[in-house]
Amino acid sequence: MPSDMTDAPDMIEPVPRRTRSVLLAVGAVLVAMVVAVVAWVMVGPGVAIIDGRSVYVGFGASPAVLVRAHASNAPWGDFVSATGRVLRSGGGLPPTFTMEGRDLSPTSRIRPRDRVASVRGRDVAESIVTTTAPEPAPVRYEGEGPDQTVISSGTAGVALLKVGEVSGDVVQKTIVIEPVAKVMRRGAYPAGSLLVALTFDDGPWPGQTEAILDILKANDVKATFFMLSGAANHHKDLARRVFAEGHLIGNHSVNHKNLSKSTPDVVRFEIVNAADTIQAITGYRPVWFRPPGGNYNAAVLQIMAESGVKLAMWSTDTNDWRKPSPQDIAGRALAGQQQVKVVLMHDGGGDRSRTIAALPQVIAEYKARGYRFVTFDHVPPDQLPH
Ligand SMILES: [Zn+2]
Repeated sequence: MPSDMTDAPDMIEPVPRRTRSVLLAVGAVLVAMVVAVVAWVMVGPGVAIIDGRSVYVGFGASPAVLVRAHASNAPWGDFVSATGRVLRSGGGLPPTFTMEGRDLSPTSRIRPRDRVASVRGRDVAESIVTTTAPEPAPVRYEGEGPDQTVISSGTAGVALLKVGEVSGDVVQKTIVIEPVAKVMRRGAYPAGSLLVALTFDDGPWPGQTEAILDILKANDVKATFFMLSGAANHHKDLARRVFAEGHLIGNHSVNHKNLSKSTPDVVRFEIVNAADTIQAITGYRPVWFRPPGGNYNAAVLQIMAESGVKLAMWSTDTNDWRKPSPQDIAGRALAGQQQVKVVLMHDGGGDRSRTIAALPQVIAEYKARGYRFVTFDHVPPDQLPH
């Protein structure tokens, strides 16, 4: 600026020509800019087609810019466990892009009107770490029966594990020290043991059978349920729950007919069809058959033998179906001091709320007297009631 000031006295002659040429140059630049803007607008407003959608790319965007602009549409890879489970959806690598079948490198520019397709980003797997864990001793059983005696306690081994660092999933397991099996001997309870078989007839019955199962489970007691297949058919899940919880299922006929007054064909149907139905529902074919009302005769016994079922009666009748008080039911269930007892109660056939109310006391008192609870198949053969 100071030089312009000193030049000032000379400006009168040459300046008009220089001003004109400067104006011309500025004008040419402006025209060129207008032409460029018009040309750019005509070529395209900065839009590329990504996966069929228009995305603004300006004068050309890199794939990284597209990932941000397009993040909600182009799929990222997942963060996965060492076994391939998805641990965090979208926690893997960002998507990549292809143009006309060729991969776009991170430094490629995407220009207006390019047609680009996204490719799902790669998954990222967690790291794998090595650790050790105790390998539990397996249990080996010898013999059959409700009584269990430990023969040898066994020892745990050691396993070398390769596990996912985040998921804990085991990828590889190598036993470096073999465990030694625990051995249990199963058998009948020793001769002279006090045994009681709780039996429940006429179910399954919604609400009541569950309540009884809950009480038995809470007291770690296994019992026997003589089911009507007609009821089991209506409440299949309940029949399956009885079986799944380790109770024995007995056959109590289809429809609770008095078999002593039925024709042989009806007797056969009531026994065999009930066994077929219960087997279809639970997978278990009941062996023990309790005739409805305890009614049987020589003809019924003959058909039972031909049908492959065995007679299952009781020694202690609670008469709970007559709906006495819970105290009465408990008193009858506990009456008598026999070494082996089979107690008759009902989970179905009507309101059994009194039976349910009496049951905890019955179980507690039998335990206090030193009885062990068995399912009907573990009643000693010479002690079967009939
Ligand atoms: Zn019955």
